[in-house]
Amino acid sequence: MENRIHNFNAGPSVLPVEVLKDVQANLLSYKGYGLSVMEMSHRSAEYQKIIDDANAAVKRIMDLGDDYEVIFLGGGASTQFLMVAMNLIPDGKEGNYVNTGTWASTALKEAKKIGKGMHVAATSEDKEFTYIPKELNFSANPAFLHITTNNTIRGTEYDHTPEVPEGVLLISDMSSNFLSRPYDFKKYDLIYAGAQKNVGPAGVTVVAIRKSIVDKMNTGLPTMLDYRTHISKGSMFNTPPAFNIYVVGEVLKWIEGFGGLDKLHAHNLKKANYIYDAIDNSNGFYKGTVVKEDRSLMNIPFRLQTEDLEKKFISEAKTLGMIGLKGHRSVGGCRASVYNSCPLESAKALGDFMKKFQAENE
Ligand SMILES: *Cc1c(COP(=O)(O)O)cnc(C)c1O
Repeated sequence: MENRIHNFNAGPSVLPVEVLKDVQANLLSYKGYGLSVMEMSHRSAEYQKIIDDANAAVKRIMDLGDDYEVIFLGGGASTQFLMVAMNLIPDGKEGNYVNTGTWASTALKEAKKIGKGMHVAATSEDKEFTYIPKELNFSANPAFLHITTNNTIRGTEYDHTPEVPEGVLLISDMSSNFLSRPYDFKKYDLIYAGAQKNVGPAGVTVVAIRKSIVDKMNTGLPTMLDYRTHISKGSMFNTPPAFNIYVVGEVLKWIEGFGGLDKLHAHNLKKANYIYDAIDNSNGFYKGTVVKEDRSLMNIPFRLQTEDLEKKFISEAKTLGMIGLKGHRSVGGCRASVYNSCPLESAKALGDFMKKFQAENE
């Protein structure tokens, strides 16, 4: 694999080799224009085409039609935690959140911090976030329900779209499973995703917003934190993360070339199964940490019997060219992230190594 290691990093994470090569080939002179995309004016016709194409590709892949605005913002998914609360919780209403672990908890804290009404509609904290809570209890005047479709650190993932009462918006942080599987995207009013997990380098966040909710957003907000600013200027109120958006556009072409979300989903399932099979057939040598029905296809956390054995596992894997297998520092253990661009060979190599390691250390 041309000097490429098996990269199981949780983010920033692996990108398709084809995309990296294409970016490399166009680095000094993009399409023969004599300059890099990094050096281009974002006001140039050449750059306008790059961002327009990326925008259209997001809408095509998600089948959003003409009902949505797509914008590319800086500040990471973490800034969306704040923007969602600022723009979409009117006075007298509450943001409703499903707390499924670290990122969801961080999102819901933001509403409180800026003095907005906040309510936890469901939580899986009682069992250390090892499942997706299915029952929702809304507040008296809910503005929206905010969910996190994939929980990067705990390794749970929604396989369904929750129902919300009439007039309540549905919002999702899809950062770590963005464009890795089909969802009923049109049921969502706002979707955001940091690019660095599934669709590009760190530094750009993709946001899709239903057009009909834009007029109802709160007014009088700081310019850069107001969605309307970015929508009305086509993501170019200020200098956008121009090169990152270009790379995202190239990854989107790769996704379309792959055959879209159904095909990618099947591919991702196959990859995840190499690893889940090694866990499930290990007689407890490896222990998955979440309930089976809510397992993520993107992030697969697991434990071994002792921390020493986990250390040995991670360091042996490294000598075989597999990196990124240490669990998040907040939960420990091991975690394999197998996002869209992670090749089948990498997932298979890990599954095979897990069986071998078990045979040698049982
Ligand atoms: C990584 C991640 C974030 C944080 O993204 P930043 O771009 O670093 O702000 C938020 N939500 C989820 C689900 C993530 O996986």
